[in-house]
Amino acid sequence: MSTTYDVIVAGLGPAGTVAVWHLAKRRFKVLGVDMRDWSTLWGKPCGDALGAHHVKEAGLPPLPSHIIKNNVTAIDIYSPGETTRYRVHGKGYIINRHALGEWLLKDALNHDAEIWFKTPIIGPIIEGGRVVGIYVKRAGRIEEVRARLVIEATGFSRVLRLKLPKSWPVYEDIDPTDVNIAYREIIEYEDYEIEEPNVIRIYLDQEIAPGGYWWYFPESKHAVNVGLGVQGGKGYPSPKSLYEKLKRHPLLNHRYRVLNAAGAPLPTRRPSNTMVGPGIVVIGDAGYTVNPLHGGGMGYGFRAAYFTATVFEEAYNNDKLDEEGLWPINTLYMKAIGAKQAALDIFRIFLQRLDNDDIRYGMEKRLIPESDVYYTSSEGDITVSTLEKLGIILRGLRRPSLLAKLKVVADYMKKVKEHYMNYPQKPSDLEVWIRRLKDMYERYQTQLE
Ligand SMILES: Cc1cc2nc3c(=O)[nH]c(=O)nc-3n(C[C@H](O)[C@H](O)[C@H](O)COP(=O)(O)OP(=O)(O)OC[C@H]3O[C@@H](n4cnc5c(N)ncnc54)[C@H](O)[C@@H]3O)c2cc1C
Repeated sequence: MSTTYDVIVAGLGPAGTVAVWHLAKRRFKVLGVDMRDWSTLWGKPCGDALGAHHVKEAGLPPLPSHIIKNNVTAIDIYSPGETTRYRVHGKGYIINRHALGEWLLKDALNHDAEIWFKTPIIGPIIEGGRVVGIYVKRAGRIEEVRARLVIEATGFSRVLRLKLPKSWPVYEDIDPTDVNIAYREIIEYEDYEIEEPNVIRIYLDQEIAPGGYWWYFPESKHAVNVGLGVQGGKGYPSPKSLYEKLKRHPLLNHRYRVLNAAGAPLPTRRPSNTMVGPGIVVIGDAGYTVNPLHGGGMGYGFRAAYFTATVFEEAYNNDKLDEEGLWPINTLYMKAIGAKQAALDIFRIFLQRLDNDDIRYGMEKRLIPESDVYYTSSEGDITVSTLEKLGIILRGLRRPSLLAKLKVVADYMKKVKEHYMNYPQKPSDLEVWIRRLKDMYERYQTQLE
Protein backbone atom coordinates (compact mmCIF):
# COMPACT_ATOMS: atom_id res chain seq x y z
CA MET A 1 0.00 0.00 0.00
CA SER A 2 1.35 3.43 -0.88
CA THR A 3 2.16 5.92 1.91
CA THR A 4 0.30 9.19 2.34
CA TYR A 5 2.52 12.04 3.51
CA ASP A 6 1.49 15.09 5.47
CA VAL A 7 3.30 17.23 2.92
CA ILE A 8 5.06 16.68 -0.38
CA VAL A 9 7.53 19.39 -1.30
CA ALA A 10 8.01 19.44 -5.07
CA GLY A 11 11.45 20.87 -5.88
CA LEU A 12 14.37 21.15 -3.47
CA GLY A 13 15.90 24.49 -4.37
CA PRO A 14 16.15 27.23 -1.72
CA ALA A 15 12.37 27.53 -1.19
CA GLY A 16 11.58 23.80 -1.14
CA THR A 17 14.54 22.91 1.06
CA VAL A 18 13.63 25.48 3.71
CA ALA A 19 10.04 24.18 3.65
CA VAL A 20 11.25 20.59 4.14
CA TRP A 21 13.55 21.70 6.95
CA HIS A 22 10.84 23.55 8.87
CA LEU A 23 8.29 20.78 8.40
CA ALA A 24 10.73 18.05 9.43
CA LYS A 25 11.66 20.04 12.54
CA ARG A 26 7.96 20.10 13.38
CA ARG A 27 7.90 16.32 13.05
CA PHE A 28 5.62 16.15 10.05
CA LYS A 29 5.82 13.29 7.63
CA VAL A 30 7.38 15.20 4.76
CA LEU A 31 8.67 14.04 1.40
CA GLY A 32 10.94 16.23 -0.73
CA VAL A 33 11.26 15.39 -4.44
CA ASP A 34 13.74 16.71 -7.00
CA MET A 35 15.14 15.59 -10.32
CA ARG A 36 18.62 16.64 -9.19
CA ASP A 37 20.78 14.83 -6.64
CA TRP A 38 23.23 15.84 -3.90
CA SER A 39 25.94 16.79 -6.40
CA THR A 40 23.80 19.45 -8.14
CA LEU A 41 21.62 20.56 -5.23
CA TRP A 42 20.56 24.25 -5.47
CA GLY A 43 22.26 24.24 -8.85
CA LYS A 44 20.24 27.01 -10.50
CA PRO A 45 22.69 29.74 -11.57
CA CYS A 46 22.57 32.65 -9.13
CA GLY A 47 24.45 35.76 -8.01
CA ASP A 48 24.61 34.02 -4.61
CA ALA A 49 23.98 37.29 -2.70
CA LEU A 50 21.81 37.08 0.40
CA GLY A 51 20.82 39.86 2.82
CA ALA A 52 21.84 38.75 6.32
CA HIS A 53 18.45 39.64 7.82
CA HIS A 54 16.66 36.99 5.74
CA VAL A 55 18.26 34.11 7.62
CA LYS A 56 16.84 35.10 11.01
CA GLU A 57 13.53 36.26 9.56
CA ALA A 58 13.08 32.85 7.95
CA GLY A 59 13.54 31.12 11.30
CA LEU A 60 16.87 29.58 10.26
CA PRO A 61 19.89 29.15 12.53
CA PRO A 62 22.94 31.39 11.92
CA LEU A 63 24.88 30.23 8.88
CA PRO A 64 28.06 28.27 9.68
CA SER A 65 31.29 29.65 8.26
CA HIS A 66 31.68 27.01 5.52
CA ILE A 67 28.52 28.38 3.86
CA ILE A 68 29.69 32.00 3.73
CA LYS A 69 32.06 32.64 0.87
CA ASN A 70 32.30 36.37 1.49
CA ASN A 71 30.84 38.96 3.86
CA VAL A 72 29.19 41.92 2.18
CA THR A 73 29.23 45.33 3.86
CA ALA A 74 27.81 47.58 1.11
CA ILE A 75 26.35 47.75 -2.38
CA ASP A 76 27.61 50.26 -4.93
CA ILE A 77 25.13 51.27 -7.62
CA TYR A 78 26.60 52.88 -10.72
CA SER A 79 24.80 55.08 -13.22
CA PRO A 80 25.20 54.45 -16.95
CA GLY A 81 28.69 55.57 -17.94
CA GLU A 82 29.61 55.22 -14.23
CA THR A 83 29.37 58.98 -13.76
CA THR A 84 27.56 58.64 -10.42
CA ARG A 85 27.94 56.06 -7.71
CA TYR A 86 25.61 55.44 -4.80
CA ARG A 87 26.94 53.48 -1.85
CA VAL A 88 24.31 51.70 0.22
CA HIS A 89 25.48 50.07 3.45
CA GLY A 90 23.98 46.80 4.61
CA LYS A 91 25.08 43.38 5.88
CA GLY A 92 24.93 40.40 3.60
CA TYR A 93 26.75 37.38 2.31
CA ILE A 94 27.88 35.74 -0.86
CA ILE A 95 26.97 32.18 -0.03
CA ASN A 96 27.94 28.75 -1.19
CA ARG A 97 24.41 27.78 -2.25
CA HIS A 98 25.17 24.13 -2.59
CA ALA A 99 26.62 23.96 0.94
CA LEU A 100 23.59 25.72 2.41
CA GLY A 101 21.19 23.34 0.68
CA GLU A 102 23.17 20.31 1.81
CA TRP A 103 23.42 21.54 5.41
CA LEU A 104 19.67 22.10 5.71
CA LEU A 105 18.61 18.91 3.94
CA LYS A 106 20.97 16.71 5.95
CA ASP A 107 19.52 18.20 9.12
CA ALA A 108 16.00 17.57 7.82
CA LEU A 109 16.96 13.93 7.14
CA ASN A 110 18.06 13.67 10.78
CA HIS A 111 14.51 14.67 11.64
CA ASP A 112 13.10 11.89 9.47
CA ALA A 113 12.27 13.83 6.32
CA GLU A 114 12.26 11.60 3.25
CA ILE A 115 14.04 12.74 0.09
CA TRP A 116 13.69 11.33 -3.41
CA PHE A 117 16.40 12.58 -5.74
CA LYS A 118 16.69 11.93 -9.48
CA THR A 119 12.91 11.86 -9.55
CA PRO A 120 11.24 13.97 -12.25
CA ILE A 121 7.88 15.42 -11.22
CA ILE A 122 5.31 15.05 -13.96
CA GLY A 123 2.24 16.87 -12.65
CA PRO A 124 -0.39 17.20 -9.95
CA ILE A 125 -2.99 14.57 -9.06
CA ILE A 126 -6.31 16.39 -8.88
CA GLU A 127 -9.33 14.68 -7.36
CA GLY A 128 -12.57 16.15 -6.06
CA GLY A 129 -11.52 19.68 -6.99
CA ARG A 130 -8.24 19.65 -5.05
CA VAL A 131 -4.63 18.57 -5.41
CA VAL A 132 -4.11 15.31 -3.53
CA GLY A 133 -0.62 14.38 -4.68
CA ILE A 134 1.82 14.32 -7.58
CA TYR A 135 2.82 12.04 -10.42
CA VAL A 136 6.52 11.25 -10.49
CA LYS A 137 8.76 9.12 -12.65
CA ARG A 138 10.67 6.46 -10.73
CA ALA A 139 12.70 3.67 -12.27
CA GLY A 140 11.17 4.46 -15.65
CA ARG A 141 7.58 4.21 -14.39
CA ILE A 142 4.99 6.84 -13.58
CA GLU A 143 3.99 6.59 -9.93
CA GLU A 144 1.48 8.38 -7.76
CA VAL A 145 2.41 9.81 -4.40
CA ARG A 146 -0.15 11.43 -2.14
CA ALA A 147 -0.20 14.00 0.67
CA ARG A 148 -2.54 16.28 2.57
CA LEU A 149 -0.69 19.27 1.12
CA VAL A 150 1.59 19.70 -1.89
CA ILE A 151 4.08 22.56 -1.90
CA GLU A 152 4.96 23.66 -5.43
CA ALA A 153 8.60 24.81 -5.33
CA THR A 154 9.86 23.69 -8.75
CA GLY A 155 11.20 27.15 -9.54
CA PHE A 156 10.40 29.07 -12.67
CA SER A 157 9.41 25.88 -14.52
CA ARG A 158 6.26 25.72 -12.30
CA VAL A 159 5.75 22.08 -13.19
CA LEU A 160 2.64 21.74 -11.03
CA ARG A 161 1.24 25.25 -11.10
CA LEU A 162 0.97 25.42 -14.87
CA LYS A 163 -0.95 22.14 -14.92
CA LEU A 164 -3.66 23.33 -12.55
CA PRO A 165 -7.08 24.22 -13.96
CA LYS A 166 -6.92 27.76 -15.37
CA SER A 167 -10.10 28.63 -13.50
CA TRP A 168 -8.28 28.32 -10.16
CA PRO A 169 -6.88 31.69 -9.04
CA VAL A 170 -3.67 29.96 -7.95
CA TYR A 171 -3.03 29.11 -11.59
CA GLU A 172 -1.57 32.43 -12.69
CA ASP A 173 0.85 32.53 -15.55
CA ILE A 174 3.37 35.31 -15.89
CA ASP A 175 3.56 38.06 -18.48
CA PRO A 176 6.85 37.69 -20.40
CA THR A 177 7.74 41.32 -19.63
CA ASP A 178 7.61 40.42 -15.92
CA VAL A 179 10.47 37.98 -16.40
CA ASN A 180 14.20 38.63 -16.45
CA ILE A 181 16.53 36.30 -18.30
CA ALA A 182 19.89 36.25 -16.60
CA TYR A 183 23.33 34.91 -17.40
CA ARG A 184 26.36 34.81 -15.16
CA GLU A 185 29.94 33.60 -15.00
CA ILE A 186 32.01 32.89 -11.93
CA ILE A 187 35.57 33.82 -12.76
CA GLU A 188 38.88 33.62 -10.97
CA TYR A 189 41.56 36.17 -11.80
CA GLU A 190 45.06 34.92 -12.38
CA ASP A 191 46.93 38.06 -11.34
CA TYR A 192 44.41 40.75 -10.37
CA GLU A 193 43.25 41.59 -6.88
CA ILE A 194 39.70 42.96 -6.55
CA GLU A 195 39.44 46.34 -4.88
CA GLU A 196 37.08 46.43 -1.91
CA PRO A 197 36.02 42.77 -2.20
CA ASN A 198 33.36 43.23 0.49
CA VAL A 199 31.42 45.67 -1.65
CA ILE A 200 29.14 44.19 -4.29
CA ARG A 201 28.43 46.29 -7.39
CA ILE A 202 25.38 46.88 -9.52
CA TYR A 203 25.67 48.71 -12.85
CA LEU A 204 22.66 50.27 -14.52
CA ASP A 205 23.14 50.34 -18.25
CA GLN A 206 20.25 49.83 -20.64
CA GLU A 207 22.62 49.00 -23.49
CA ILE A 208 24.36 46.15 -21.71
CA ALA A 209 21.40 44.98 -19.60
CA PRO A 210 18.16 46.36 -21.08
CA GLY A 211 15.40 46.31 -18.45
CA GLY A 212 17.80 44.87 -15.89
CA TYR A 213 21.32 45.52 -14.67
CA TRP A 214 24.71 43.91 -14.65
CA TRP A 215 26.45 42.92 -11.46
CA TYR A 216 29.91 42.26 -10.09
CA PHE A 217 29.74 40.32 -6.81
CA PRO A 218 33.17 39.41 -5.41
CA GLU A 219 33.39 36.00 -3.74
CA SER A 220 36.91 36.71 -2.50
CA LYS A 221 39.85 38.94 -3.48
CA HIS A 222 40.35 36.92 -6.64
CA ALA A 223 37.01 35.38 -7.63
CA VAL A 224 33.85 37.16 -8.69
CA ASN A 225 30.33 36.36 -9.85
CA VAL A 226 29.61 38.58 -12.87
CA GLY A 227 26.36 38.58 -14.76
CA LEU A 228 23.48 40.44 -16.24
CA GLY A 229 19.71 40.26 -16.47
CA VAL A 230 17.57 41.34 -19.43
CA GLN A 231 13.83 42.00 -19.42
CA GLY A 232 11.83 39.36 -21.26
CA GLY A 233 9.14 39.86 -23.89
CA LYS A 234 10.78 42.88 -25.49
CA GLY A 235 12.86 41.22 -28.18
CA TYR A 236 16.14 42.29 -26.58
CA PRO A 237 19.29 40.34 -27.48
CA SER A 238 20.05 37.28 -25.35
CA PRO A 239 21.91 37.91 -22.10
CA LYS A 240 24.72 35.64 -23.26
CA SER A 241 25.31 37.73 -26.37
CA LEU A 242 25.18 40.93 -24.29
CA TYR A 243 27.71 39.41 -21.92
CA GLU A 244 30.17 39.42 -24.82
CA LYS A 245 29.87 43.23 -24.83
CA LEU A 246 30.42 43.31 -21.10
CA LYS A 247 33.70 41.49 -21.52
CA ARG A 248 35.16 44.76 -22.85
CA HIS A 249 34.71 46.38 -19.45
CA PRO A 250 38.05 47.20 -17.72
CA LEU A 251 37.10 44.90 -14.80
CA LEU A 252 37.12 41.96 -17.17
CA ASN A 253 40.22 43.08 -18.98
CA HIS A 254 42.50 40.85 -16.89
CA ARG A 255 43.56 37.27 -17.23
CA TYR A 256 41.05 34.92 -15.62
CA ARG A 257 39.59 31.42 -15.69
CA VAL A 258 35.85 30.79 -15.95
CA LEU A 259 34.82 28.44 -13.13
CA ASN A 260 31.15 28.22 -14.08
CA ALA A 261 28.90 29.77 -16.71
CA ALA A 262 25.10 29.44 -16.92
CA GLY A 263 21.86 31.35 -17.36
CA ALA A 264 18.20 31.07 -16.34
CA PRO A 265 14.95 33.05 -16.21
CA LEU A 266 13.44 34.47 -13.04
CA PRO A 267 10.17 36.23 -12.20
CA THR A 268 10.44 39.94 -11.38
CA ARG A 269 6.94 41.05 -10.50
CA ARG A 270 4.37 41.57 -7.75
CA PRO A 271 3.45 38.53 -5.65
CA SER A 272 1.06 35.89 -6.90
CA ASN A 273 -2.55 36.95 -6.37
CA THR A 274 -2.75 33.92 -4.11
CA MET A 275 -0.11 31.43 -3.06
CA VAL A 276 -2.79 29.10 -1.72
CA GLY A 277 -5.01 26.82 -3.78
CA PRO A 278 -6.98 23.68 -2.93
CA GLY A 279 -4.40 21.21 -1.62
CA ILE A 280 -1.49 23.23 -2.98
CA VAL A 281 0.73 26.15 -1.98
CA VAL A 282 3.13 27.84 -4.41
CA ILE A 283 6.40 29.33 -3.13
CA GLY A 284 9.80 30.48 -4.39
CA ASP A 285 10.23 31.31 -8.07
CA ALA A 286 7.20 29.10 -8.74
CA GLY A 287 5.19 31.39 -6.45
CA TYR A 288 6.79 34.65 -7.73
CA THR A 289 8.30 35.39 -4.31
CA VAL A 290 11.19 37.43 -5.73
CA ASN A 291 12.26 41.04 -5.25
CA PRO A 292 11.23 42.62 -8.58
CA LEU A 293 13.84 45.36 -8.37
CA HIS A 294 17.00 43.34 -7.94
CA GLY A 295 15.76 39.80 -8.63
CA GLY A 296 16.90 38.42 -5.28
CA GLY A 297 14.70 35.38 -4.72
CA MET A 298 16.36 33.34 -2.01
CA GLY A 299 15.37 35.51 0.96
CA TYR A 300 11.70 35.87 -0.01
CA GLY A 301 11.56 32.18 -0.94
CA PHE A 302 12.94 31.21 2.50
CA ARG A 303 10.34 33.33 4.22
CA ALA A 304 7.45 32.06 2.10
CA ALA A 305 8.57 28.53 3.06
CA TYR A 306 8.70 29.48 6.72
CA PHE A 307 5.21 31.02 6.65
CA THR A 308 3.91 27.91 4.89
CA ALA A 309 5.30 25.53 7.52
CA THR A 310 4.04 27.68 10.40
CA VAL A 311 0.54 28.02 9.01
CA PHE A 312 0.40 24.35 7.99
CA GLU A 313 1.17 23.34 11.56
CA GLU A 314 -1.69 25.39 12.90
CA ALA A 315 -4.13 24.30 10.20
CA TYR A 316 -3.14 20.67 10.78
CA ASN A 317 -3.71 20.96 14.53
CA ASN A 318 -7.12 22.51 13.88
CA ASP A 319 -7.86 19.88 11.25
CA LYS A 320 -8.53 22.65 8.75
CA LEU A 321 -6.32 22.03 5.77
CA ASP A 322 -8.65 23.59 3.22
CA GLU A 323 -7.94 26.89 1.43
CA GLU A 324 -9.44 28.86 4.27
CA GLY A 325 -7.29 27.13 6.88
CA LEU A 326 -4.13 27.79 4.86
CA TRP A 327 -5.11 31.34 3.86
CA PRO A 328 -2.92 32.97 6.56
CA ILE A 329 0.07 32.01 4.37
CA ASN A 330 -1.17 34.75 2.02
CA THR A 331 -2.02 37.29 4.69
CA LEU A 332 1.30 36.79 6.51
CA TYR A 333 3.31 37.00 3.30
CA MET A 334 1.47 40.04 1.94
CA LYS A 335 1.92 42.00 5.16
CA ALA A 336 5.54 41.09 5.75
CA ILE A 337 6.82 41.14 2.17
CA GLY A 338 4.16 41.18 -0.54
CA ALA A 339 3.08 44.80 -0.02
CA LYS A 340 6.67 46.02 -0.44
CA GLN A 341 7.25 43.61 -3.29
CA ALA A 342 4.26 45.05 -5.16
CA ALA A 343 5.37 48.64 -4.52
CA LEU A 344 8.81 47.77 -5.84
CA ASP A 345 7.16 46.24 -8.87
CA ILE A 346 5.59 49.62 -9.60
CA PHE A 347 9.03 51.20 -9.36
CA ARG A 348 10.55 48.44 -11.55
CA ILE A 349 8.04 49.08 -14.33
CA PHE A 350 9.01 52.76 -14.32
CA LEU A 351 12.75 52.08 -14.29
CA GLN A 352 12.50 49.69 -17.22
CA ARG A 353 11.08 52.46 -19.36
CA LEU A 354 13.96 54.85 -18.77
CA ASP A 355 16.87 55.27 -21.12
CA ASN A 356 20.47 55.71 -20.03
CA ASP A 357 20.21 59.51 -20.13
CA ASP A 358 17.20 59.51 -17.81
CA ILE A 359 18.88 57.18 -15.33
CA ARG A 360 22.12 59.13 -15.42
CA TYR A 361 20.24 62.39 -14.90
CA GLY A 362 18.10 60.96 -12.08
CA MET A 363 21.13 59.62 -10.24
CA GLU A 364 23.24 62.75 -10.78
CA LYS A 365 20.45 64.96 -9.42
CA ARG A 366 19.83 62.43 -6.68
CA LEU A 367 16.10 62.42 -7.34
CA ILE A 368 16.05 59.52 -4.93
CA PRO A 369 18.86 60.41 -2.57
CA GLU A 370 21.54 57.87 -1.74
CA SER A 371 20.39 57.82 1.88
CA ASP A 372 16.90 56.72 0.75
CA VAL A 373 17.93 53.97 -1.65
CA TYR A 374 18.10 51.27 0.99
CA TYR A 375 14.77 52.37 2.43
CA THR A 376 13.11 52.49 -0.98
CA SER A 377 14.46 49.12 -2.06
CA SER A 378 13.66 47.33 1.17
CA GLU A 379 10.43 49.04 2.22
CA GLY A 380 8.90 49.82 -1.18
CA ASP A 381 8.36 53.48 -0.30
CA ILE A 382 9.72 56.74 -1.54
CA THR A 383 9.95 58.81 1.63
CA VAL A 384 8.01 61.97 2.36
CA SER A 385 11.19 64.01 2.43
CA THR A 386 12.05 62.75 -1.04
CA LEU A 387 8.63 63.69 -2.32
CA GLU A 388 8.95 67.15 -0.81
CA LYS A 389 12.32 67.58 -2.45
CA LEU A 390 10.83 66.33 -5.67
CA GLY A 391 8.12 68.95 -5.44
CA ILE A 392 10.78 71.62 -5.28
CA ILE A 393 12.76 70.13 -8.12
CA LEU A 394 9.61 69.64 -10.18
CA ARG A 395 9.19 73.38 -10.41
CA GLY A 396 11.46 74.39 -13.15
CA LEU A 397 14.13 71.81 -13.95
CA ARG A 398 15.20 70.35 -17.22
CA ARG A 399 13.13 67.18 -17.26
CA PRO A 400 9.64 68.01 -16.07
CA SER A 401 8.13 64.93 -17.69
CA LEU A 402 10.54 62.56 -15.97
CA LEU A 403 9.99 64.24 -12.66
CA ALA A 404 6.22 64.33 -13.02
CA LYS A 405 6.30 60.62 -13.79
CA LEU A 406 8.33 59.94 -10.70
CA LYS A 407 5.55 61.61 -8.72
CA VAL A 408 3.03 59.24 -10.35
CA VAL A 409 5.31 56.34 -9.45
CA ALA A 410 5.51 57.40 -5.80
CA ASP A 411 1.70 57.76 -5.65
CA TYR A 412 1.10 54.32 -7.13
CA MET A 413 3.73 52.72 -4.93
CA LYS A 414 1.74 53.97 -1.99
CA LYS A 415 -1.64 52.97 -3.41
CA VAL A 416 -0.57 49.48 -4.39
CA LYS A 417 1.16 48.93 -1.08
CA GLU A 418 -2.02 49.88 0.76
CA HIS A 419 -4.02 47.54 -1.43
CA TYR A 420 -1.77 44.65 -0.43
CA MET A 421 -1.90 45.66 3.23
CA ASN A 422 -5.68 45.23 2.85
CA TYR A 423 -5.31 41.79 1.33
CA PRO A 424 -8.52 39.73 1.74
CA GLN A 425 -8.87 37.78 4.94
CA LYS A 426 -10.73 34.94 3.21
CA PRO A 427 -10.67 33.30 -0.24
CA SER A 428 -14.18 34.44 -1.15
CA ASP A 429 -13.07 38.10 -1.18
CA LEU A 430 -10.17 37.49 -3.54
CA GLU A 431 -11.93 38.05 -6.83
CA VAL A 432 -12.96 41.64 -6.07
CA TRP A 433 -9.50 42.39 -4.71
CA ILE A 434 -7.84 41.08 -7.91
CA ARG A 435 -10.17 43.18 -10.04
CA ARG A 436 -9.20 46.33 -8.13
CA LEU A 437 -5.53 45.47 -8.42
CA LYS A 438 -5.83 44.98 -12.16
CA ASP A 439 -7.55 48.36 -12.51
CA MET A 440 -4.81 50.02 -10.50
CA TYR A 441 -2.10 48.54 -12.71
CA GLU A 442 -3.95 49.54 -15.87
CA ARG A 443 -4.38 53.13 -14.69
CA TYR A 444 -0.73 53.25 -13.70
CA GLN A 445 0.46 51.98 -17.08
CA THR A 446 -1.74 54.56 -18.82
CA GLN A 447 -0.33 57.39 -16.73
CA LEU A 448 3.20 56.31 -17.53
CA GLU A 449 2.56 56.43 -21.29
C1 LIG B 1 21.60 34.44 -12.99
C2 LIG B 1 20.75 34.62 -11.76
C3 LIG B 1 21.27 35.35 -10.69
C4 LIG B 1 20.51 35.45 -9.49
N1 LIG B 1 21.08 36.10 -8.42
C5 LIG B 1 20.45 36.06 -7.22
C6 LIG B 1 21.10 36.58 -6.05
O1 LIG B 1 22.22 37.06 -6.08
N2 LIG B 1 20.43 36.48 -4.87
C7 LIG B 1 19.18 35.90 -4.77
O2 LIG B 1 18.63 35.84 -3.67
N3 LIG B 1 18.57 35.41 -5.87
C8 LIG B 1 19.16 35.46 -7.08
N4 LIG B 1 18.56 34.91 -8.18
C9 LIG B 1 17.24 34.27 -8.01
C10 LIG B 1 17.39 32.93 -7.30
O3 LIG B 1 18.35 32.15 -7.94
C11 LIG B 1 16.05 32.21 -7.30
O4 LIG B 1 15.06 33.11 -6.85
C12 LIG B 1 16.06 30.99 -6.39
O5 LIG B 1 16.98 30.03 -6.80
C13 LIG B 1 14.65 30.38 -6.39
O6 LIG B 1 14.61 29.25 -5.59
P1 LIG B 1 13.49 28.16 -5.80
O7 LIG B 1 13.73 27.13 -4.77
O8 LIG B 1 12.18 28.80 -5.87
O9 LIG B 1 13.74 27.58 -7.27
P2 LIG B 1 14.99 26.85 -7.92
O10 LIG B 1 16.27 27.31 -7.33
O11 LIG B 1 14.81 26.99 -9.39
O12 LIG B 1 14.77 25.32 -7.51
C14 LIG B 1 13.74 24.55 -8.07
C15 LIG B 1 14.05 23.09 -7.88
O13 LIG B 1 12.99 22.33 -8.49
C16 LIG B 1 13.55 21.28 -9.21
N5 LIG B 1 12.65 20.92 -10.32
C17 LIG B 1 12.22 21.71 -11.33
N6 LIG B 1 11.44 21.02 -12.18
C18 LIG B 1 11.40 19.75 -11.70
C19 LIG B 1 10.76 18.55 -12.14
N7 LIG B 1 9.99 18.50 -13.24
N8 LIG B 1 10.94 17.44 -11.41
C20 LIG B 1 11.70 17.43 -10.30
N9 LIG B 1 12.32 18.52 -9.84
C21 LIG B 1 12.17 19.67 -10.52
C22 LIG B 1 14.88 21.80 -9.72
O14 LIG B 1 15.77 20.73 -10.00
C23 LIG B 1 15.34 22.67 -8.55
O15 LIG B 1 16.13 21.94 -7.65
C24 LIG B 1 19.23 34.83 -9.40
C25 LIG B 1 18.72 34.13 -10.50
C26 LIG B 1 19.47 34.02 -11.66
C27 LIG B 1 18.89 33.25 -12.81
